[in-house]
Amino acid sequence: MKRHISPSLLPSRNLSVYKKRAERLDVELLEIEQAHLGTDGGIMLIGRLMDHLRSRGVAVSLNERMVELERDSRCIVTDARRIGYRDLILAPGRKGFGFLQELMDELGVEYVDNVVDIGLRIETRVEKYPIVRDYYDPKFIFPGKVRTFCTNSGKAYVVRERYVTRAGAEYFSINGHAYAEKDNGNGLVNFALLKTVRLTQPLASGQEFAEMLGRLVMLMGGGRPLMQRVGDFRLGKRSKSQSFTGDLYDFEPTLEGCTPGDISLAMPAKILRSIWKSMKLLDTIVPGVMHPSTIMYYPEIKLYANKPRFVDEHFQAAPGIYMIGDGAGTSRGIVAAWASGIRAAEGVSAEHHDESRVCAS
Ligand SMILES: Cc1cc2nc3c(=O)[nH]c(=O)nc-3n(C[C@H](O)[C@H](O)[C@H](O)COP(=O)(O)OP(=O)(O)OC[C@H]3O[C@@H](n4cnc5c(N)ncnc54)[C@H](O)[C@@H]3O)c2cc1C
Repeated sequence: MKRHISPSLLPSRNLSVYKKRAERLDVELLEIEQAHLGTDGGIMLIGRLMDHLRSRGVAVSLNERMVELERDSRCIVTDARRIGYRDLILAPGRKGFGFLQELMDELGVEYVDNVVDIGLRIETRVEKYPIVRDYYDPKFIFPGKVRTFCTNSGKAYVVRERYVTRAGAEYFSINGHAYAEKDNGNGLVNFALLKTVRLTQPLASGQEFAEMLGRLVMLMGGGRPLMQRVGDFRLGKRSKSQSFTGDLYDFEPTLEGCTPGDISLAMPAKILRSIWKSMKLLDTIVPGVMHPSTIMYYPEIKLYANKPRFVDEHFQAAPGIYMIGDGAGTSRGIVAAWASGIRAAEGVSAEHHDESRVCAS
């Protein structure tokens, strides 16, 4: 992997100061080697990898959707054709979470889907969260299963992702990204503050729970996610469009298409309490992050795991069928998604196979 990405690791400074403050509050700051590829760097890397694959004779078909699996004849059906396979690696990502569940139901593959991360994305000025000048993506773990995740700074933007439920209803989840190229930086930082929720008795689907919360926000926000300034939240007031102009509220949200509102009307109390407490702890470790201008976007949803019961360590879920990546719960980020691809590929090449193809492409 290193050979292809050749990452240049980012320096980290003053970590002992933040760590000491965190430890006093029972908060953990993880120390990890980090590299920042950036949205622009990622696109270039994908271009390079695609060229490499094509030069090795790999056929790549974009804009073609798999719709069905015909297991008995070892074929997949797409919206354009039928294709025979010897081994199949399925990696439909987070958006393909529901699709993968349907396949697992058909194949009789057992899976768990009772864990989900729900939370906010925080956006503020870099000077209100200066730790990012010392450590690009600080990962804090707070009591109550709350953590910071996916910090972006320099030229950083908040975005929304569109999801469609199995019943065809639409909702959005917030995310963030940054460009590696720092010219015309916007001086803003964004990161997620997520609480892990594990549903137990009676066992329920984390995906359905998250979808319901996403749908509730659609109702509250008139078809858009919600945003609220910390200053308004503290006063128990909803945010209005006036909260996004002037004086204390002096920077504009990078995500257009969000409704100023009241997050506490849409977020379950237990999640909100844990997250607000974590924000106060964070503000003690990195004073400034709870400035009135700081924006909280809701909802950020991470479907945790859709984890099939694998039959081997190569993520084989049924004979000749491998399920990997964010959609199958083997990863939650680029590096682990990549690593799970390598592990599945090693499984495919190690297996002894029946070479015959039943169904013609
Ligand atoms: C805005 C944003 C910022 C992120 N920032 C970071 C970050 O800073 N660091 C990090 O580590 N991770 C980040 N991530 C997460 C990272 O992108 C994912 O963890 C990773 O891409 C997962 O890889 P994957 O192969 O499992 O799925 P994906 O990359 O989602 O790929 C799945 C592909 O399958 C396709 N697909 C789905 N269903 C079908 C079907 N039925 N037929 C055919 N194709 C299908 C999808 O269209 C998609 O192209 C970010 C994600 C987003 C959206």
